[in-house]
Amino acid sequence: MCMATVKLAENNSITIPHELLKKLGLVPGDSFTVEEADGGIIARPVRPVATPSVNPATVDGKSLKDSISRKNLEVGIQYIKGIGPKLAELLEKKEIRTVEDALFLLPLRYEDRRRLLSISSLCPGQSAVFSGTVLSADVTATKGGRRVFEALVRDDSGTIVCKWFHANAVWMKRTWKVGRVGVFSGEVNQFGYQREVHHPDVEWLPEGGQLQTLLESDPANFGRIVPVYPLTEGIHQKTMRRVMREVVDVFLPNIVSAVPSELLPSEFPNFREALSQVHTPPPEADLADLNAGATPAHQALAFDEFFFWELGLALKKQGVLKEEGIAFQVSHRYTKELVRLLPFELTTAQRRVLAEIKNDMMAPHPMHRLVQGDVGSGKTLVALMAALIAVENDYQVAIMAPTEILAEQHWHTIHRWCGRMGLEVTLITAGLKGKAKKEALGRIADGSARIVIGTHAVIQEKVEFAKLGLGVIDEQHRFGVLQRGILKKKGANPDILVMTATPIPRTLAMTLFGDLDLSVIDEMPPGRIPIETKVFFESRRPQLYDMIREQVRSGRQVYVIYPLVEESEKMELKAASQMAEHLQTDVFPGLRVGLLHGRMNPVEKEAVMSSFTSRDFDILVSTTVIEVGIDVPNATVMVIEHAERFGLSQLHQLRGRVGRGKEKSYCILMTSGTLSEDGEKRLRVMESTSDGFRIAEADLEIRGPGDFLGTRQAGMPDFRVANILRDGTLLEKARRAAFDLLEQDPELKGSVYVPVYDELLRRWGKRLELAMIG
Ligand code: ADP
Ligand code: MG
Repeated sequence: MCMATVKLAENNSITIPHELLKKLGLVPGDSFTVEEADGGIIARPVRPVATPSVNPATVDGKSLKDSISRKNLEVGIQYIKGIGPKLAELLEKKEIRTVEDALFLLPLRYEDRRRLLSISSLCPGQSAVFSGTVLSADVTATKGGRRVFEALVRDDSGTIVCKWFHANAVWMKRTWKVGRVGVFSGEVNQFGYQREVHHPDVEWLPEGGQLQTLLESDPANFGRIVPVYPLTEGIHQKTMRRVMREVVDVFLPNIVSAVPSELLPSEFPNFREALSQVHTPPPEADLADLNAGATPAHQALAFDEFFFWELGLALKKQGVLKEEGIAFQVSHRYTKELVRLLPFELTTAQRRVLAEIKNDMMAPHPMHRLVQGDVGSGKTLVALMAALIAVENDYQVAIMAPTEILAEQHWHTIHRWCGRMGLEVTLITAGLKGKAKKEALGRIADGSARIVIGTHAVIQEKVEFAKLGLGVIDEQHRFGVLQRGILKKKGANPDILVMTATPIPRTLAMTLFGDLDLSVIDEMPPGRIPIETKVFFESRRPQLYDMIREQVRSGRQVYVIYPLVEESEKMELKAASQMAEHLQTDVFPGLRVGLLHGRMNPVEKEAVMSSFTSRDFDILVSTTVIEVGIDVPNATVMVIEHAERFGLSQLHQLRGRVGRGKEKSYCILMTSGTLSEDGEKRLRVMESTSDGFRIAEADLEIRGPGDFLGTRQAGMPDFRVANILRDGTLLEKARRAAFDLLEQDPELKGSVYVPVYDELLRRWGKRLELAMIG
């Protein structure tokens, strides 16, 4: 029995999910009879249910074509002429289920088949199309013993070798017959004196056929710039081209751009034209631009994607602006006192950002602000100052940190200052149990706890605030928008301050947090001495140990960090504790080695941390739990084992744990000799710069945005065409256009804008809903 949930729409129609439609063999245009039955009412399609092997669209592709509306881009791909169940299944593997999915499957690259080249003119590196006659073809063996199928092809001007590795020799010999004439395409390589084409595409001339006839009879594959689509096993490039051509031909006329034409930059073709050009580039198109995704057509599509994303963010931001929030008053009661207590002056950047926060807090709308600042730039202090403003107004503050250790560290710092002002600061951790927990929850509920610090434990159901006025989220990208929303619901529209230590490149920040206002702490507290960073291979380990001894001898302390081993805490623990033992007994018998790992409970961790802070031991071996937050100015050496396993931004965070005092600090990235060239290049970035933004940018380039932040949890849109690295300027343009549009018509109520709104919901529906919560 096939069950599906169907929804009754406003006009009393029912939308049937595609899957069900497919199972029933229904196509657009079918109708139903409705009859009374025992269990309720049964609806039966009038049209006989098609047997799976019959493809209804091939039966009457015409009428299907005629009945298409905008919505019908959601038609299942199996109804397209020439797509049977088997091909449909293969396409589904590439996530192509609907016509729309297909239309947005853009070519990976393009091949210039506008004209045939003479074999003598082929140059290495060129992607070339040529015709010729097979002179010889057989299996040969390389010096290394690999079997290779090799064919020699000739035209009037010269010869060239075609090669296949791992080919089915029997089948190859049957097709590659001496004397056969064909059109070949592929990339030209040079090996010594010999030019070769590996795994060329081939189109054979029928016996006695004319070359010209072949070329003209197959316009999809010859005589033009042809698209090369991403494939999945079992689908041939030619099949893909045929399918895509059909989809484009039949459905393109139904495409309308929802972006109002006055908002589209004038240098871009309209949406329909752009889609057409991307799949079927015009003869005069620039091949390099096509391959770089830089043609006006590509850019127009990217603009369209950015526009709708930014429009969603703009709407959300506007919604927040309209919300009623708390208008705090600044009495300076506690903030002034804290400034007086501090042994240093606030930096100019800290003061500027604080002024921005103050403005937001005084406004009668909820603050939604992101504070971005490199490790050690002094964000905690800024957050504390904001917290004190809320406290001055008799509101409570919740501070959420991504890890227990960081929450504890924050608690330490904040408790130290607030204690001196008589303000109660409460730490909530996962380990808090029984009576202690009940008491803590009680003090939060009755308002005696003025500032509450914790991990996501802070937003658990049981935590109830008497009067929450400000939520601070440290390290936003680890939480994502959902938590932001829940935290917000713990109070009556409290202000939200998001802090991020990972310097997010501007374009990425705009994409992710476009609905937040941005403040940047772009200045370090004075007197910091640059950290010297070195990549060490295993052979230099003795040198590393000498250096550690020397640093400890002059009174300094050392961190040794171990990465997560295969995601397993157990293994991680083993590696770290074995290392600690080895260092203590074999390497530094005269020094004191401590161990900190993720399996310790908060009390144990706390004990280790505070004994390290008070110099009870010299070397702290730790798993990545100290990634953020630890503040021990006397520590001057950071050793990171298996550094290649960390992301650059993570390495930067770890490195930020040293260089906090007056002494020169060192960061040693230990790595094995088996590092790839790219891997080494990556680590060398750390040697060359201490600028978190540059490191983040390099990291982003190497790993891609999804990996950089962890796409899913960050709510990062996966754009189909747009690329936030490549199309940064375009993103800014789209953002301006979206915000301008809302300025003209804040609710998109004008009739011209209705399609924009519909399209917005259709495209980003679920995502936007999610984003809207925050
Ligand atoms: P972040 O959270 O941005 O990584 P922290 O807030 O932990 O940085 O600050 C790092 C260190 O710098 C802390 O020891 C803090 O006390 C100190 N600090 C903060 N602001 C200043 C300042 N204006 N001048 C000197 N030191 C500062
Ligand atoms: Mg911090």
